[in-house]
Amino acid sequence: MTRYVYQFCDGNKDMKDLLGGKGANLSEMTKIGLPVPPGITITTEACKRFYEKGQKIDSDLEKEICENLEKLEEKMGKKLGDKENPLLLSVRSGAPISMPGMMDTILNLGLNDESVKGFSKAISNERTAYDSYRRLIQMFGDVVMKIPSEKFEEVLDDIKKSNGYKDDTELTIDDLKEVVDRYKTIFKENAGIDFPQDSRKQMMMAVEAVFSSWENDRAITYRNINGIPHTLGTAVNIQSMVFGNMGNDSATGVLFTRNPATGAKGLYGEFLVNAQGEDVVAGIRTPQFIDEMENVFPDKYREIEEVAQKLERHYKDMQDVEFTIEKGKLYMLQTRNGKRTGAAAVNIAVDMVEEGFIDKKTAVLRVEPLSVKQLLHPAFDEVELQKAKKITKGLAASPGAAYGKIYFTSEEVVAAAERGENAILVRTETSPEDIDGMSKAKGFLTARGGMTSHAAVVARQFGKSCISGCSELVVNEKAKKFSVKGVEYKEGDYISLDGNTGCIYEGKIQTKEAEITGNLNKLLTWADEFRRLEIWTNVDKAKDLERALEFGAEGIGLCRTEHMFFGEDRIKYVRRMILTDDIEEEMKVLDKLFEFQKKDFYNLFKHMDGRQVIIRLLDMPLHEFLPVRDKDIEALSKEMNKDFDELKHKVSSLKEFNPMLGHRGCRLGMTNPEIYRMQVRAIITAVTELEKELNITLRPQIMIPLVGIEEEIASIRKNVTEVADEIIERENSKLVYEVGTMIEIPRAALMADKIAKHADFFSFGTNDLTQMTFGFSRDDADAYLKSYVKQCVLEISPFESIDTEGVGKLMDIAVRLGRETNPKLHIGICGEHGGDPKSIQFCDKIGLDYVSCSPFLVPVARLAAAQAAI
Ligand code: ADP
Ligand code: MG
Ligand code: MG
Repeated sequence: MTRYVYQFCDGNKDMKDLLGGKGANLSEMTKIGLPVPPGITITTEACKRFYEKGQKIDSDLEKEICENLEKLEEKMGKKLGDKENPLLLSVRSGAPISMPGMMDTILNLGLNDESVKGFSKAISNERTAYDSYRRLIQMFGDVVMKIPSEKFEEVLDDIKKSNGYKDDTELTIDDLKEVVDRYKTIFKENAGIDFPQDSRKQMMMAVEAVFSSWENDRAITYRNINGIPHTLGTAVNIQSMVFGNMGNDSATGVLFTRNPATGAKGLYGEFLVNAQGEDVVAGIRTPQFIDEMENVFPDKYREIEEVAQKLERHYKDMQDVEFTIEKGKLYMLQTRNGKRTGAAAVNIAVDMVEEGFIDKKTAVLRVEPLSVKQLLHPAFDEVELQKAKKITKGLAASPGAAYGKIYFTSEEVVAAAERGENAILVRTETSPEDIDGMSKAKGFLTARGGMTSHAAVVARQFGKSCISGCSELVVNEKAKKFSVKGVEYKEGDYISLDGNTGCIYEGKIQTKEAEITGNLNKLLTWADEFRRLEIWTNVDKAKDLERALEFGAEGIGLCRTEHMFFGEDRIKYVRRMILTDDIEEEMKVLDKLFEFQKKDFYNLFKHMDGRQVIIRLLDMPLHEFLPVRDKDIEALSKEMNKDFDELKHKVSSLKEFNPMLGHRGCRLGMTNPEIYRMQVRAIITAVTELEKELNITLRPQIMIPLVGIEEEIASIRKNVTEVADEIIERENSKLVYEVGTMIEIPRAALMADKIAKHADFFSFGTNDLTQMTFGFSRDDADAYLKSYVKQCVLEISPFESIDTEGVGKLMDIAVRLGRETNPKLHIGICGEHGGDPKSIQFCDKIGLDYVSCSPFLVPVARLAAAQAAI
């Protein structure tokens, strides 16, 4: 029989799928003897069952929950709903993959009009009792009955205002009783029922609400953004309560065992005296730094330090911990591997190897490859920074330099990003509803909230710059402006955030590019020891190439030649070449273009001594080079000495309905062989000149795009070798070159054995291959693909990560067939997927020789390739 409920003492950290991350780690902490308030976990399987039964907890499941509750009651010597000394519970969501703040938690469950009195007596603290009761009504109202929290907040603010209080802690017992009464009224008005007095009913309703919260909008959005499957479900933890709001010897806090922004060693976090957990996380009161605890509770501080070390030793990783101190006794409420910035991840991984916690392999596995991109983010240019006007300073919550226009709502940020603007989200504080805007903003700035506030946590996770708790900032969201010491900044004004220092500047500060040094260099060098795949890069400009080589690229996997045709100085020749009917004119123009291309190749290749370079011959529908406006056609007609109407007619006759499936790639090579011949001449001449002038040798590899038929490659190859061999012979060179093809048409994959007879190499063009395998237009598919992902038809867009099942099957076939007829065939990938860690994993598996990606992704690919090989 499937078991749906576990006691904390029965589980362990490896049961995350079943118990959720929170539940599994509460069990693990219990097991290693840390002070965890006892509780039970209802499994993710129960959540699935809940959805199968039409969002209902069936009687069998309810029975199992109640049996386990009774065991818990026995252990605690208290009963839920008891009038004298009630057991109080928290009901906490906990998915297998942590989704901070996305789902719901209810505290103090079990209080009602009677038990609150008993509780008050039992703890001899009427204040805490009523404070806890009002929190329960609010949280229960919010989570279970969907009553907006503001309605409750308004009452609280009202009572605070009329008494002249600043802080919640100033509320008297009578005030709190009044709050409770008014909360109950609001509850009834909005929910249509009285606040439930039956504690078991409270509990079951809360469990249902947590299960339901798995499918609330913000949780779904969060999963979409983070690529978390919607099928996992959440577990529910029911835990006995401890109270950080028992007075000044009580507190609640959160901490990281190391700095999650930089990775620096030492406790890093915040706490609040006389408060309950939600107060810290919600960023409602700005908490104190954990270091200050050394003065307030010196013993507890040392105890927490010990616990932190024990947790790190046990988990061998940096932990993110929640704790509560109840009347001087420490309780652990949560631990998990802490989310961290890319920089922190790298530093912690390398430090932990040096501290002997983990080995190099583990360190390489520890760092999420894409997070390395954050370390390559630009920083502010020092000189520019000196000149900039500083507005104020807040907490450096997440590093990175960012500039952008100020916006005050998530919607406005999204709209601005769609217009192509850099947007900075400025808020008093952010909340989970802002998640869309936060994913699109370059950085966040908040007036309230600490280092573990919502804004800070999300920023570090998304790798965005964030400055939080900026107390001088007065934000007026309604009026769309903020002010600092009387100076106002409006929507659309530029500001710059330095997430490394917490400084905020006026205007736009220029940034400079990053380098690979220090711990990142160490880690990537370790990665190189483990990986099998080579990492090449897609470039066609010398400047990008320098970058890629600095980042560790070993070859060029794709040099596109289209861009070389587009330059302002040459586009007119390209147009003339396409539009002329006169062979002589065409030859003249091609000679011009030859000079341009040769120079481009020369300048690119001179950095590639001893390396391999794949150059793709022209692959673009011709009409894309042609003028659109009459004005431009007219200018061209004058230049070419041609009749305007005739030229216009010719231009429009080259238009295609379906250009992506049109007259491009090797089809051009078949119909207009002179273009490819010119390109080959430019490539081979550039290399032979480099050999002579700079004593550079490299192996050019000429790649024919869009082949689907054996005859295409056979015929073009003949053309290519004819031109190339003639130059090589004439120049008396020893140059070795190769001719190969892209595999990007499904038919090419299926016919790979035939095609390989004429190819020295294959390179998967997975953008086109994906487009043609699915029949999804890669330029327009986003609209429906988003919905497909939401409906779980696809786990992720196949343009982001290779569809290993379908497109991958074609790739696998092509690799096997190709090597059957040509065992020397070398194979790589040059589609966008070459920089996607999951796709790299797949490329490793099917035996490719290299992946080629954009320069910025080279470090990411080095790490991902190592992880694939380990
Ligand atoms: P989240 O996943 O959003 O962090 P949690 O389930 O961790 O939600 O609960 C939020 C906060 O509620 C915790 O940080 C903790 O401070 C408080 N809390 C939860 N359970 C208990 C408990 N049993 N006793 C005291 N406080 C609790
Ligand atoms: Mg938590
Ligand atoms: Mg292509």
